[in-house]
Amino acid sequence: MQPFVYNALPMRVIFGSGTLSQVGPEIQRLGCGKALVLTTPAQAKEGEMLRADLGSLAVGLYSNATMHTPTDITEEALELAQRLGADCVVALGGGSTIGLGKAIALRTDLPQIVIPTSYAGSEATTVIGQTENGQKTTQKTPKVLPEAIIYDVDLTLTLPAQMTITSGINAIAHAVEALYSAEANPITDMLAEQGIARVANALKILSKDPHNIEARSDALFGAWACGSCLGAVGMALHHKLCHTLGGTFNLPHAETHTVVLPHTIAYNAPFSTVAMTKAARSLSAGSAAQGVYDLAKNLGAPYSLKQLGMKEADLERAADVAMKSPYPNPAPLDRERLLSLLRDAYEGKRPA
Ligand code: NAD
Repeated sequence: MQPFVYNALPMRVIFGSGTLSQVGPEIQRLGCGKALVLTTPAQAKEGEMLRADLGSLAVGLYSNATMHTPTDITEEALELAQRLGADCVVALGGGSTIGLGKAIALRTDLPQIVIPTSYAGSEATTVIGQTENGQKTTQKTPKVLPEAIIYDVDLTLTLPAQMTITSGINAIAHAVEALYSAEANPITDMLAEQGIARVANALKILSKDPHNIEARSDALFGAWACGSCLGAVGMALHHKLCHTLGGTFNLPHAETHTVVLPHTIAYNAPFSTVAMTKAARSLSAGSAAQGVYDLAKNLGAPYSLKQLGMKEADLERAADVAMKSPYPNPAPLDRERLLSLLRDAYEGKRPA
């Protein structure tokens, strides 16, 4: 057996249907009683309902969480939290809302209860990305790890059809990179293989039957497994590229992961054959790169950077940014090969 190091993150997870009713007891378990509920504008109605259900345990709602966690939004939410005397935050939503909760915790140490409604996986990591003056920077600190995660499958029934697929593939990306991570270990391997299989199978069902509760449950459980991998090991070229494309060119998060993943797998596969055999098996595909590409394309997700509005003229710059302070990666980084990866992703070519 290979020797390994495994760092488990402390994590309290409540998973099920109807678990939103557990938010109040969780606020009390933390010794709190003045929660500020956080959502994006799109989920403000759900936030308002939660706030009403919580009664005197909630002091307000901030419903302007924004993708890539801009610091001016954090300052605005923080000002409200302080004015209302909030003693904890309850983030209800996808990675953007959870990011805002983390940004508040980073500055105040307020406890967080998070209720993830997409498959992005931020709730299971100590990573916080923030954007200031158009520059996105990330840091890792246990200060941002939520005190409780409440997964309520019912809340994922409204996840829009395309976002279901792209967010699911965002989850798969965490697991794929965990399999070939420099810190890969038998525990994250198990989580990754199970996470990929659950999410991939569920997406096939959900693309036809978005209200299938069993498949929604599998997708959410798989997303937790994949997110736990992201929290436990370091990521590689794929996350670096998506970070570059999202931060520098303002491309949408889940869609960018979906388009780029088959191409980073193809780039790394010759240097991670055992890991990518496991990924292919979990995808029930002959090759992991083609398996992810076919899954996305067949289910109607975007499959080229061109479709996401990337400009061909920006590919060279993207390659330059991605070459700077690279993450550890199985295949050596070579600018020309990276540019060719980006060109293939731009055109939406099926990997060989
Ligand atoms: P998102 O949170 O921006 O969600 C996209 C839209 O879908 C939002 O309007 C949201 O309100 C809506 N939505 C989410 N769930 C819904 C549901 N069940 N029903 C109806 N609408 C719903 O997008 P995302 O992809 O979940 O998160 C992306 C952000 O998360 C990025 O900023 C990314 O950097 C961050 N992220 C961070 C980490 C980390 O570890 N720090 C990990 C993954 C993602």
